Parts: sequence; C-alpha cells; structure tokens
Amino acid sequence: MIHPPPEISRPAPMLDVRADFPLFAHRPKLVFLDSAASSQKPAAVIQAMADFYAHDYANIHRGAYRLSANATDRFEAVRDQAAQFFGAPSRDGVIFTRNATEAINLVAHSWGQLHLNPGDVVLVSEMEHHANLVPWHLITGQRGARVEAVAMTPDGRLDLEDYGHKLRDLPVKLVALQHVSNALGTVHPARQLVEMAHSYGVPILLDGAQAAPHLPLNLDALGADFYVLSAHKMLGPSGVGLLLARPEALRGMPPYQGGGDMIREVYSQHSTYAPLPHTFEAGTPAIAEVIGFGATLEYLGGLGMARVAAHEHALLSYALQRLGAVDGLQLYGPPDDRCGVVSLNVLGAHAHDVAGFLDEANICVRAGHHCAQPLMRALGVASTVRASFSVYTTPADVDALADALSEIVQFFA
Ligand code: PLP
Repeated sequence: MIHPPPEISRPAPMLDVRADFPLFAHRPKLVFLDSAASSQKPAAVIQAMADFYAHDYANIHRGAYRLSANATDRFEAVRDQAAQFFGAPSRDGVIFTRNATEAINLVAHSWGQLHLNPGDVVLVSEMEHHANLVPWHLITGQRGARVEAVAMTPDGRLDLEDYGHKLRDLPVKLVALQHVSNALGTVHPARQLVEMAHSYGVPILLDGAQAAPHLPLNLDALGADFYVLSAHKMLGPSGVGLLLARPEALRGMPPYQGGGDMIREVYSQHSTYAPLPHTFEAGTPAIAEVIGFGATLEYLGGLGMARVAAHEHALLSYALQRLGAVDGLQLYGPPDDRCGVVSLNVLGAHAHDVAGFLDEANICVRAGHHCAQPLMRALGVASTVRASFSVYTTPADVDALADALSEIVQFFA
C-alpha cells in the first residue's frame, strides 16, 4: 500500500456498519464505490422481504381474508413511515412508483397534460440525469411546449444567476431540477431553488434520487411541489420509487396509468378514480419490496441521517485530499457543497480503461457519461470515472482507490 502523505490524516469513520451488509461477508476484499448507481442492502432489509414472502405474502387492497388485510396494513404503514421519514406534507401525496424515473414520468405525463400549452417552457438544467430530461422532451414535444436548461458554472454548480434570469425572462410553467448531481455530487441549494421558482409563481419538481440516500430531508419545510427518489439507491430494494407531492399540486392531474387499484367505479364505457394517493398507483405494486423499504427506513432512522451525512462528508474530504495529491488526475466538481461522489479522469487514459484496471484491483466504480450527457459536454469530456460512497464506505476503501489510481497514473505516464 502507498501510504497517504503525512499531511493528510485519515478520518476515524463515524459509522462502522460493514458487518450489517452480507455482501461484504461474501466478498471481503471488495471495494464497492458505485453506490450512486445502486447501493448494497443491509441484512435487515433482505430479511424483511424474505420473511414477508415466507410467512405473510398476499396481494393487497382487495382480499376479504386476514392474510391480505394484514399485508395491506403493512404496505400502507410504509406509506406513513415514508411520509414521516421524509417530512412529507401529507400521506396522500406519497405515491409508490417503480423508481425515480417513473415518478418523473408520472409528473411529466399527468401534470404536463393538464398544464402545458404551446409556447410554455419547462426549465431544467444542463446538469440533469437523463431521467429528468427525456420525460420533459417527450411531453413538451406532445404539447408544443419546450425545454430550456439552466447553465452549470465552471466549478460544477448550478448557475443561480442564469436560473434567475431564465425564470424572469422565459414563460416557465414548471421547474425540474436535481437536488444533488449524480455525476459530480454537487448539493444544490434546494430551498433557494424552490423559493426562486415560487417567487415567480412557478411550481418545482426536485429530483432527489441522489439526495435522499445522503441527506436528512424535511420536504414540508423545503416546499417543493414534487420530490422524487429511488429506494435502491438508499439501501432499499429495487423496484420501489417515491413521488412525494404536495396534494394540491396533484389536484386535477389525470391518472398516469389505468387498471386495477386506482379506480372507484368502472363501467363499460367509462370509469371514475380512487382518491389520492391510489389514483396514481395502478395494478399490483412491488409489495414485498415496499415492506423491505420500510425496513430500510427503520435502518437509516437508527443510524440517523445527520450521522450518515457527516460520515460521507468526512470520507469525501479525505478522498479529495488523497486524490488531489496524485499528479496526473483531473478531478471534477466543486470543492464544497458536495455529497460522497468523486468524478475524475486519469490524464491520457480513457475512463473505461481506468475502470477496467480498478476492477482488476477489486474496486467497483462507474465509468461513462453517468446518464448526464449535457453535463459531460459542459465539462468538455466524453466520460469520467465516478467513485461514490455510502454508509458502509470506509477510509480504507478511499486508500485502496487512491493507491490503485496512483499506479494507473504511472502506467499511463
Ligand atoms: N436522477 C438522478 C440524479 C439519478 O442519479 C438517477 C439514477 O442514477 C435517476 C434520477 C434515476 O433513478 P432510477 O434509475 O432509480 O429511476
């Protein structure tokens, strides 16, 4: 091992939870630094789903028998739990989807059908994940509206001056911005973004897919009209996302999908719809996974999101110091206001080759455009290598990454 330079001190980890994650017992040498793509799962979450399938499984919302009624109660209890965990304004605005992508598509489709007219603008940014771009391209194309993008500053933040100008000068009908960048880790000033949009009477959707895993949230205080996230990025199961909306923002929106569970009455020629939140939940949901998400929230609640944020922040500063001391690396993103994501390139090497070398050393990172092609264009690169952290990341993981990258730099020198 190449030791850190003496001036860089290794932080004592605030969380020591690796033993909670069975994957690391099975793969003790694995250095997993791709949590922004999808995180690993604690035993409590895996067990909750296995137990539900083994002992308590039945479909929900329609059974006349106790097994189904109990499953319904447990599913609906997770809705209450999520409302409380995220400080949502109301359980009626807590809508289960498949993932953050589906939650954004739901809003784009249903809100867009109701509110977007020819000439209207949906204001995004050039830092967005494709999940918060393509749904807006689709709906604005259908409605004769258009998408405009707030610029990124050279150090990887949202250009707030440009945001203000666009809000003032363009016929903006909706703002849709990320809370945290998946490619750079930038934490945007969410409260300010909301206040600025609302000062022009414009509703705002925040894409919290990369914020919810890392930051304490109080959505009622934050005030966004729509907030979306994915369970699988925050230690929970895949197949579950959340749309957390102010119920008044959902008012009048047509259902996103039709089918069982979202109806009040169905006749051959027409139907009426169930009240919120069920209007937007057609068909059988990911029942066991939602129950697993309940266990996830309990687990994260036990750790405390403030401690999670502090743990990842300490690791990030350590990583920025260690990687900053390696000649031959280009690091991207701001020096502060940032979650546990490091985006970089080895000068003279392709990001995919670097990721391949790291994989040889048992280090899992992402390489590519990170579903953020406009952001890559703004940076002037085709791709980066991205290392991303979670509660189970340790200073030793950062050391392994920095040591391996030092060797890769030598190789390409
Ligand atoms: N938004 C951001 C910022 C993301 O990072 C991601 C996934 O990487 C998404 C949205 C989409 O999440 P999902 O694929 O879980 O729908």
